[in-house]
This record gives sequence, C-alpha cells and structure tokens, in this order.
Amino acid sequence: MTDVLVVGGGPAGLSAALFTQKNGLDTAVFDTDETWIHKAHLFNYPGIGSQDGTAFLETLRTQVDSFGVDSHEAEVTDVTESDGTFTVTTDDSEHEADYLILATGANRDLAESLGCDFEDDLVDVDLSMETSVADAYATGAMVRAEEWQAVISAGDGAAAALNILSKEEGEHFHDFDVPADAAAVFGPDEE
Ligand SMILES: Cc1cc2nc3c(=O)[nH]c(=O)nc-3n(C[C@H](O)[C@H](O)[C@H](O)COP(=O)(O)OP(=O)(O)OC[C@H]3O[C@@H](n4cnc5c(N)ncnc54)[C@H](O)[C@@H]3O)c2cc1C
Repeated sequence: MTDVLVVGGGPAGLSAALFTQKNGLDTAVFDTDETWIHKAHLFNYPGIGSQDGTAFLETLRTQVDSFGVDSHEAEVTDVTESDGTFTVTTDDSEHEADYLILATGANRDLAESLGCDFEDDLVDVDLSMETSVADAYATGAMVRAEEWQAVISAGDGAAAALNILSKEEGEHFHDFDVPADAAAVFGPDEE
C-alpha cells in the first residue's frame, strides 16, 4: 500500500511528494497537467533568476522522479476516507493510503466531497495545511484567496509533507542535508 496519495502535480503537489518520497514514504502523484505554471514566467521564485514555467516544471518533475515517486497522468474523480484509509479513484484504478494531500490548484471539489470544512470559499486548514479531516491536507491555490504564487504553493506542500513525516516519526522531523550528503551521492567535486 502507498503511504501518501497526492492529487495535483503543480508546485504544491510535487513539493509535497518530493519531501515525503525523499524521506522514505511511498508516494503516488495524480495529475492532469493543467497547472497554471505552464502560463507563467518566473522572476519571483527565490533561487531562480528567470525561467519559463514549463521548464521549471520539467526540472521539478525530474527531481521528484529521481527519488522514485509513482507518477500517474490521470484525473482523480473521487476521494473517500474510511477507518483512517484514503481511497483515490481514477477512471481505471483505485489507490489506498494513510495520508492524502490535495493540491488541485483553485479547484476545491475533491475537498468538498471528502467533507473538509470550509471558511467562506476556502478549504479550512491549520498551519501544517491539515484539513478538518485528520491526515488529509489541502495546499496551494485552494486554501488561499487569490494569494497565488508558485513559491507559496511549494511551501504549503512542504509544510504538509513535514507534518506527515513528523507524525510518522513521533517527533518534529527536520529534512536537513549537509554538503557531505551531496558528496556521497555525486562525488567530492559537487560538495
Ligand atoms: C498567467 C499566469 C501567470 C503566472 N505567473 C506567475 C509568476 O510569475 N510567479 C508565480 O509565482 N506564480 C505565477 N502564477 C501563479 C502560479 O502558476 C500558481 O500560483 C501555481 O501554479 C499554483 O500551484 P498549485 O500547485 O497550487 O496549483 P496548480 O499549479 O494549478 O496545479 C494543480 C494541478 O492539479 C491538477 N489537477 C486538478 N484537479 C485534478 C484532479 N481531479 N485529478 C488530477 N489532477 C488534478 C491540475 O491539472 C494541475 O496540474 C501565474 C499564473 C498564471 C495563470
């Protein structure tokens, strides 16, 4: 069984998947590739001088895939929860996991059908992006009143993932790497 199901493969969903898969939780991402980032040119993503949104997305996808995330090009038509297990349904498959991260941009339909609380038109989340449904998270454009920036979505995804990792660990989880970690993977020249 997968540990984490992520619906949406924009900056929020891929950021969440990066953190969970990198740190040992089997993660699947479902995406229909309608992310707004395809329309953007990024001048305001820290660390990126100037980059076409689609090129940014390709780098992010490669980064996520390199850690072994299970990526599905598929629309999720339903999400349900029963006895602490989430089930995600697509046209031709069902997938179960202990944690669910919704990252469907401004589309809030799945959060509504899952029974998440809303505040006005927004999905109600805490600072870790957890919804009123335990172990279900909502991230990115769906939780914000038009404060729509890629770096905020990516931060939301990371916050959700770290909260899940902390729950699994039983204490605050820190995803810290140091130069020696890069050297171990790529060799000393990459330190
Ligand atoms: C014209 C334009 C220019 C922009 N310029 C900038 C900019 O310069 N800088 C900046 O920071 N931001 C910019 N943005 C905003 C930025 O693109 C968004 O803030 C960001 O993409 C939101 O990320 P997200 O992951 O929350 O949602 P999205 O990027 O919208 O990703 C959501 C993903 O979920 C998928 N999805 C939705 N429903 C389902 C489902 N049921 N099943 C499976 N997949 C599903 C979608 O296909 C999509 O790929 C711009 C946006 C636009 C429209």
